[in-house]
Amino acid sequence: AGKKVLIVYAHQEPKSFNGSLLKIAVEELTKQGCSVTVSDLYAMQFEPRATRNDIVGRLHNSEAFNYGVETWEAYKRGGLSKDLVEEQKKVQEADLLIFQFPLFWFSMPAILKGWMDRVLVQGFAYDLSKSYDGGLLQDKLSLFSFTTGGNKEMYSNGGIGGDIRYVLWPMQHGIMHFCGVKVLEPHICYAPENVSEEKRKEMLTGWTQRLKTLWKEEPINCSPEWYFK
Ligand code: FAD
Ligand code: ZN
Repeated sequence: AGKKVLIVYAHQEPKSFNGSLLKIAVEELTKQGCSVTVSDLYAMQFEPRATRNDIVGRLHNSEAFNYGVETWEAYKRGGLSKDLVEEQKKVQEADLLIFQFPLFWFSMPAILKGWMDRVLVQGFAYDLSKSYDGGLLQDKLSLFSFTTGGNKEMYSNGGIGGDIRYVLWPMQHGIMHFCGVKVLEPHICYAPENVSEEKRKEMLTGWTQRLKTLWKEEPINCSPEWYFK
């Protein structure tokens, strides 16, 4: 109760399975007394491209554009574009970040990747020698909740897709852990398009149930071994 949750949501259709998972999270967490904010990226027409437009005013070096350097400098002088400042404020206030999306090409949809690229700016999310356990977004939790087209067998160790943890490595370790954010077990709904209506309902109930005891969970031990052992 009293916790702040930011859900970053990447699906175009509210009636989708992802839309249902989002609705469940908003309802259940609100019911618990959490304050829930949703960044509905497609509805916001969130800009995924990392460009010059993210810096307001003069560039640090206008001779040769370097996105990382320019956003870092802009962050320090309060010169990032308004949409980025707003997202950073939501992240700053949140105790828990939930990412809700369908798996696209073993990764997140471009619009969500663009959110990562643009919002988690140097100086804000990490800094020189402030990364991983020393990252700047400490005391926050993250949870990747996503759906797949492939079934669980395909994403098991002997399966054609390999262990699903390989997919989680860049997102959980490369992004969240890098910024100092702790990682809860992912929540994966396999192949909602291909299972029975009964199984779909079961998966949705499973998400509600998980959320009920979420705040008692311990983060995973996010290290190379967790992914590749
Ligand atoms: P939906 O089609 O919206 O939902 C499935 C079904 O659930 C629908 O019939 C819907 O009506 C129903 N439903 C919704 N709400 C409820 C409810 N409350 N109760 C009961 N039923 C409900 N998959 C992979 O595995 N690996 C990949 O690398 C991959 N790459 C992709 C790349 C692209 C560009 C695209 C477009 C897809 C890719 N996929 C991949 C597949 C993708 O991950 C799945 O299509 C997606 O995860 C399905 O989720 P959804 O929310 O869109 O499903
Ligand atoms: Zn890690």
